[in-house]
Amino acid sequence: MLEIGGKRIAMKEQRPKQRIRNFRSVPCGYTKEEVIAEAQRCIQCIHAPCEKMCPVQMEIKSMIREIVEGNFKQAFLIAKKDNAIPAICGRVCPQEEQCEGVCPLAQTGNGINIGKLEAFIADWAMENGVKEEFHIKERLEKVAVIGSGPAGISCAVDLRRYGYQVTVFEALHMAGGVLQYGIPAFRLPKNIVDYEISYLTEIGADLKLNHIVGQNIMFDELREKFSAIFIGTGAGAPQFLGIEGERLKGLYSANEFLFRTNLMKAYKFPEYDTPIVCGNAIGVIGAGNVAMDVARCALRLGAKDVYILYRRTKREAPARAEELQHALEEGVEFMELVNPKRAIGDKDGWVTAIEMFRMRLGEPDKSGRPRPIKIEGSEFIMKLDTVVESLGTKPNRLFLDMTPELETTKWGTIKVDEDLMTKIEGVAAGGDAIRGNATVILALGDGRKAAKSIHEYLLRRQ
Ligand code: FAD
Ligand code: SF4
Repeated sequence: MLEIGGKRIAMKEQRPKQRIRNFRSVPCGYTKEEVIAEAQRCIQCIHAPCEKMCPVQMEIKSMIREIVEGNFKQAFLIAKKDNAIPAICGRVCPQEEQCEGVCPLAQTGNGINIGKLEAFIADWAMENGVKEEFHIKERLEKVAVIGSGPAGISCAVDLRRYGYQVTVFEALHMAGGVLQYGIPAFRLPKNIVDYEISYLTEIGADLKLNHIVGQNIMFDELREKFSAIFIGTGAGAPQFLGIEGERLKGLYSANEFLFRTNLMKAYKFPEYDTPIVCGNAIGVIGAGNVAMDVARCALRLGAKDVYILYRRTKREAPARAEELQHALEEGVEFMELVNPKRAIGDKDGWVTAIEMFRMRLGEPDKSGRPRPIKIEGSEFIMKLDTVVESLGTKPNRLFLDMTPELETTKWGTIKVDEDLMTKIEGVAAGGDAIRGNATVILALGDGRKAAKSIHEYLLRRQ
């Protein structure tokens, strides 16, 4: 029987042995012929479930129809209308859980490769200088956006579209949040991030880098100077296991390891003046996407043996299937059913090993995954030169402690109502700051929704 839609057009990738020697993109992208052939497989379903599953409701079906006709400009404009950063989302969104996951062709493992189509048309627009044109009817009110991650970017773009005078305050010396400092260049090339962000200033937003709100500019000052505020400060504070030896040198949080590698370009040392200690044997504790990013960076930094240390099994690993597969292809070793007890160091305070328990799986816990149970007396020592804890992050207290009027949850995330407005009048929040660790596309959706709420709030005040 002929399969509807046929097989997915395979994406060429750098071979594992080659790619672990560089930080260039792993997927090589579709050619024009390939992108059209992939788009032609779309059966243009009447109800387009892919669009309903997209957190920003991109008009995916229409975008694909234009690609089939070779109208890449039109396809790009359709994507850009709802998604401020399509070249980024096309590369990093978990499409298999969203648009692609509900595509009827996914039942045979051949869902339309929506992410790669989106990335293609956005790259094509960048290479051909095609931009979205819209007429801004300027308004006098000023709005401040705190944080330039995906939530801040999408909120700022939409606020400009409504005509507000927007200033984005970013703590770091580069804009983009996790897109810039967390996700490595081999998954998300930095020229793409820079290009997508340059759009912010092109449409007239004022981007103030090196401005930590709560430190070199106060929140109250923003409240005096701006008619409304959006908080998109993310969740950048790392969580730790709380085990003995955690302060040893050579033991990092995933955030610090990725920050040094990506934002501070440690992989280009000594061209860039950022040291990173990454020995021959490195253990990464955790099995989410961030852990895979750390493990894959470590390989590229020259580590010989890279281990993912996880208390459950591969089957329960929270990482996307594609990320896990890429890591394994590259030679990362996955150690299942182990849990650290303590880190061991030498007389100079450098980590040399980690002691772990063996674990077994029990009944499902609240997350629905089998509970990992410690096997008493199973301790063993594993020699390692570097250890990285990748256990998730939470919102930074620095900003929150300076703004006690903001209500927070027990996880430290900011409380908002259904329109994403906080308890403080005219102040909205979104992205990881309200969700904890989430995704780029959810942050974009929040930014968009918050911009609409701020717009309605400012209209009501007139
Ligand atoms: P962030 O991206 O964290 O941006 C917040 C910004 O606010 C930062 O630039 C920060 O410097 C700034 N800021 C903080 N406090 C202040 C202050 N007081 N003053 C001024 N500025 C401030 N999601 C996916 O969908 N796909 C992936 O493949 C993926 N991979 C990931 C890999 C890593 C390593 C990490 C850490 C996360 C990953 N995520 C991924 C999650 C995703 O990146 C986040 O959910 C998303 O970036 C959240 O966006 P945000 O705008 O809320 O916050
Ligand atoms: Fe095309 Fe799949 Fe969307 Fe249907 S669900 S319109 S086949 S991409």
